Amino acid sequence: MNQPGTDALDRLLRMQAADLPVHGGRTLAYVYDSGLPDVDRIGREAVAAYAGSNGLDPTAFPSLLQMENDLVGFAADLLDAPDTVVGTVTSGGTESCLLAVQGARDSRPRVDRPRMVVPSTVHAAFLKAAHYFGVEAVVVPVGADFRADPTAMLDAIDADPDRTVLVVVSAPSYAHGVVDPVAAIAPAAAARGIRCHVDACIGGWVLPYAARLGREVPPWTFAVEGVTSISVDLHKYAYAPKGTSLLLHRTPGHRRPQYFAHADWPGYTMLNSTMQSTKSGGPLAGAWAVVQSLGDTGYELLSREVFEAVDAIVAGSTDIAGISVLTPPDSTLVALGTDDTCDPFTVCDEMAARGWYVQPQMSYDDRPATIHLSVSAATLSGVDDLLAALRQSVAAAAAAGPVTVDADVAAFIEALDPTALTDADFDGLLVAAGLVGDPTGGADLTLPDRMADVNAMLDLASPRMREALLVAFLDRLQRPTR
Ligand SMILES: *Cc1c(COP(=O)(O)O)cnc(C)c1O
Repeated sequence: MNQPGTDALDRLLRMQAADLPVHGGRTLAYVYDSGLPDVDRIGREAVAAYAGSNGLDPTAFPSLLQMENDLVGFAADLLDAPDTVVGTVTSGGTESCLLAVQGARDSRPRVDRPRMVVPSTVHAAFLKAAHYFGVEAVVVPVGADFRADPTAMLDAIDADPDRTVLVVVSAPSYAHGVVDPVAAIAPAAAARGIRCHVDACIGGWVLPYAARLGREVPPWTFAVEGVTSISVDLHKYAYAPKGTSLLLHRTPGHRRPQYFAHADWPGYTMLNSTMQSTKSGGPLAGAWAVVQSLGDTGYELLSREVFEAVDAIVAGSTDIAGISVLTPPDSTLVALGTDDTCDPFTVCDEMAARGWYVQPQMSYDDRPATIHLSVSAATLSGVDDLLAALRQSVAAAAAAGPVTVDADVAAFIEALDPTALTDADFDGLLVAAGLVGDPTGGADLTLPDRMADVNAMLDLASPRMREALLVAFLDRLQRPTR
């Protein structure tokens, strides 16, 4: 007889087989692979051991507090933090960014309509924070080098310094992989009494090692005067299981508004440092176990590998006609552009057909669409295969010719006003866009193998329209099975 639950586990693993692989270094977005099976196993076992523990009350589960303080201490050393630094483990980069904005807003309770100044390349999590917390996001175009433009950022602050509670910069930005000029912005923010958050969610754990390996990294840590907080994801380049990030503050005073306490109800006094209240100890334990087993030496080795892979990809891509590296990456993210001979979305499809997931990035402003690669240490062993696949994919995309959207359809899409559309309009549009087969039968969970046509059509739509279409799509996917 089966053990209870064996059947469910079998089914779970069968379902999982349809997902993108999280190991092997061939999925170049969403997942980060150290390529070390033992480290993965240790992380998984720690998650399992702590799956039922509750981080709601660290005095009830003191081991969780110990692990959190250990992780913050490790990060503090990496990030050149002063002795006053404090930090919190959160559920992910978005929560770290949300809390940075919430804390900045609540540190200035007398500001009526708070605003924050962000470069146009800032992660979407900050626009989400603006939306959630009623903080106006002043979005400043980046320079020709894709980095935040210090003069424009400071001008934006000075347009209304009294209402400005935060300025954000990235180390590096997700879309282009470059580090903003933190040293030209943070001290100037400090001179105006304004907090400066460095979003190092994706770079915070590798850039310090890059510097140690002798690579050129512009200053971005707490060593820069005026940097008041930094977010760093453990579930990215610390290669920890999903569900952990760190938010570090320069002083306890900077963290104070992040706490929420409520004693004025008949239950337990609620005291939270993060958005979650009950929270699994699993991710924290998983991250702690991975960081302890890799240690400083392990991360230095993995950083050596990932940067070797990045350099090989940059050099190899430069040799492929039809594509180019958008800008030399400061970190582990590579953005590829294409010329008129090949369509970037078709290249992504062709890569997927060859077992490589690379991520399409839509056009933005007057910049054309690009291809994103988050390189992992595990990618190094397959880097020749990756470049061969890329060369073949570019050739196949060139042979297939440009993806053309019918001129009438294009004009129609460009003219659409998402606020004026009904549910029935969206049903029709989703079918026309190829995202949904039959509107009456509900959305099909399996997307078409080739997304280039869908992406080309979405790329024509305004960002607002794209958001509305994809929300309508997700809404139709998220329906209960009964
Ligand atoms: C990934 C990322 C985030 C958001 O992190 P999640 O873990 O996906 O919530 C924020 N900023 C940057 C630069 C990122 O790369």
